[in-house]
Amino acid sequence: LVVLENVNKYFGELHVLKDIDLSIDRGEVVVVIGPSGGGKSTLCRTINRLETIDSGKITLDGEPLPQEGRALARLRSEVGMVFQSFNLFAHKTILQNVTLGPIKVRKVPKAQAEEEAMALLERVGIASQAGKFPAQLSGGQQQRAAIARALAMKPKIMLFDEPTSALDPEMVAEVLEVMTDLAREGMTMIVVTHEMGFARSAARRVVFMADGQIVEQSTPEEFFTEARTDRARDFLSKIL
Ligand code: ATP
Ligand code: MG
Repeated sequence: LVVLENVNKYFGELHVLKDIDLSIDRGEVVVVIGPSGGGKSTLCRTINRLETIDSGKITLDGEPLPQEGRALARLRSEVGMVFQSFNLFAHKTILQNVTLGPIKVRKVPKAQAEEEAMALLERVGIASQAGKFPAQLSGGQQQRAAIARALAMKPKIMLFDEPTSALDPEMVAEVLEVMTDLAREGMTMIVVTHEMGFARSAARRVVFMADGQIVEQSTPEEFFTEARTDRARDFLSKIL
């Protein structure tokens, strides 16, 4: 579904993505882990074209990523993204946050958008919060709203960049549960996370990134029991 070939990205002198080759099948859940500054966020951001690349090729469904205009707006809706900070519109209700994209970009009539949004809020367990503003919700509820908002665009793939790192521990589980359900339903997902329980239970593949490179890719079982590289073993010894 998504293929990156020989992708390179620089921030000035800094080479942040080095010859990245990565291919993600439809329905696959890939967890990306690795030390801070390794390029995980940048990798995610190139896939919905929040960052440009300097060389190489990225395709979604066989098509090169669009560079501008309406095609780019469509790409952003096809690639759902959930960040560490929930990025909800503060002055809109939860329901409005979820319906805005469908109404504006997908041109869904308001009543239908609201109906779909309520079904999604139901699915992530916060339908009763629909009329509230983001600041009135807990962090876990806000993040679930952010997930519902991304899903409302009917994305082909969902990118999660450390979706639970900003949450209090007791709220991590509720967000991971929503993500686990999504994975089970067959959503294609790239998840940057240090939640190893999630990686073990939901990921088909673990991609270990460090210093701008994909150092190692394997199944969660392999990765956690017999990582192949010193770099990965060293990282695991620090976080497990
Ligand atoms: P973390 O685990 O801390 O989130 P990461 O693996 O997501 O790290 P990135 O955020 O992708 O790492 O950053 C990779 C490198 O690129 C880092 O050295 C970072 O300082 C640098 N970088 C990221 N964004 C920019 C930017 N907009 N301008 C300049 N340098 C950047
Ligand atoms: Mg990051």
